[in-house]
Amino acid sequence: MTGMSAMRTTIVIGAGLSGLMGALALAEAGLRPLVLAKGQGATHWTPGTIDIWGADDRPPRQAIQAIIESHLHHPYALIGMHAVEEAIARFRALTEAARYPYVGGLERNVLLPTAAGALRPAALFPVTMAAGDVRLGGEVVIAGFRELRDFYPPFIAANLAAQGIKARGVYLTLPSAFRRREYTTVTLARMFDDPAFRSEIGRQLRAQRGDAARIGLPAVLGLRDPLGAVAHLQRESGAQVFEVPTLPPSVPGMRLFALFQNAIEQAGGRLQIGSDVIRGDGQNRRLVTVWSEAAARQQEHRVERALLATGGIAGGGIRTDQAGMVRETALDLPVRAPAHRADWFAPRFLDPQGHAIYTAGVVTDSHLRPLGADGEIVYENVAVAGATLGGVDTVRERSRSGVSLATGWAAGRILAGFAS
Ligand SMILES: Cc1cc2nc3c(=O)[nH]c(=O)nc-3n(C[C@H](O)[C@H](O)[C@H](O)COP(=O)(O)OP(=O)(O)OC[C@H]3O[C@@H](n4cnc5c(N)ncnc54)[C@H](O)[C@@H]3O)c2cc1C
Repeated sequence: MTGMSAMRTTIVIGAGLSGLMGALALAEAGLRPLVLAKGQGATHWTPGTIDIWGADDRPPRQAIQAIIESHLHHPYALIGMHAVEEAIARFRALTEAARYPYVGGLERNVLLPTAAGALRPAALFPVTMAAGDVRLGGEVVIAGFRELRDFYPPFIAANLAAQGIKARGVYLTLPSAFRRREYTTVTLARMFDDPAFRSEIGRQLRAQRGDAARIGLPAVLGLRDPLGAVAHLQRESGAQVFEVPTLPPSVPGMRLFALFQNAIEQAGGRLQIGSDVIRGDGQNRRLVTVWSEAAARQQEHRVERALLATGGIAGGGIRTDQAGMVRETALDLPVRAPAHRADWFAPRFLDPQGHAIYTAGVVTDSHLRPLGADGEIVYENVAVAGATLGGVDTVRERSRSGVSLATGWAAGRILAGFAS
């Protein structure tokens, strides 16, 4: 069965951070974007923090400034500092309005504990994680539930202690009325939506905290009102409470996706998850049609403008194979990648130089329009954003979600005609 939308539309391909930021910009410009995505983006897998720069100790603003001066093809340099700042401001206002505020910015990174007790730098993060910054000092209690796999408070505390942070791990008991057969991050988050559950957990935290002023819990403190849940637990326990990211599915990422979806739909956009974009056809350097495939259904979309935000290799936007092929999956745009498969990976997994294959992607001009090998614009009405952008190893830089946030917003603004 095929369906065809007769009107030319604004299409966003991909529903990760870059596609969602771009769709928001397009929807707010009145262009009623249709978001087509094969599946959920990295939001549902990642800790929910926005890493703008973490490769060294420089504050993100200083690192980006240096990139702008020295690395002209880097996505941050292509869009410029003003666009990065604008994206962060819009994102912070969006999360604030949804009562799930993100704090931080370009001035410094905080160091937040992971579920392995490692420390990771983060520039922008939900306020529910803010008290986790280990530089705040003092003793930290890490509390969790035996029922939640892959979150072991004594292990986290021991690893923090090995790094000089006074930490203690404790287990809490699930109240009998809330016992289930299966426990995931999502089932626990639903429990934390219930004030009765929070009161009971808060009492246990007070009993266990001793002299500690801060308590870390798995990042499952409610889907509906995490801010209210943290405030409630703080009142009951008498300590500052913070969330520690868990293994997937990521509750913070799900909250983020939900608030974006709500804002995009409110502004007249639409999200269609489960639609794999398999082809695009162009004419006179303009993309005119894209084809998407859902279960037993192919759809043809006439295109006015399109944002490609398909997440690169990790997101499914770039596919590689054994023979050394590297392909862009939605529109078959030209991809820049290491010439030989043997050059894809460095010998060591944690090589300081990173792995060359992570630089594979689509190269663009400063309007984020895709370029061919000859440097010519492939499609005038397409912008590329996020991890599908090539030429830079954002994994090594720890800048991946920052680049996705900033280029997604910039691409949406450019396509809406706001940027010159
Ligand atoms: C497990 C994991 C952990 C990570 N941890 C971190 C971290 O800690 N910090 C960090 O900065 N980054 C991390 N990342 C990187 C993450 O990819 C970026 O942070 C960023 O979110 C990427 O955003 P994006 O919008 O570019 O792509 P994604 O979030 O990957 O979204 C891509 C979207 O495009 C869709 N798509 C792909 N191909 C097609 C197609 N042909 N048709 C239709 N839709 C398509 C996908 O279904 C998805 O909706 C992690 C990634 C993974 C996978």
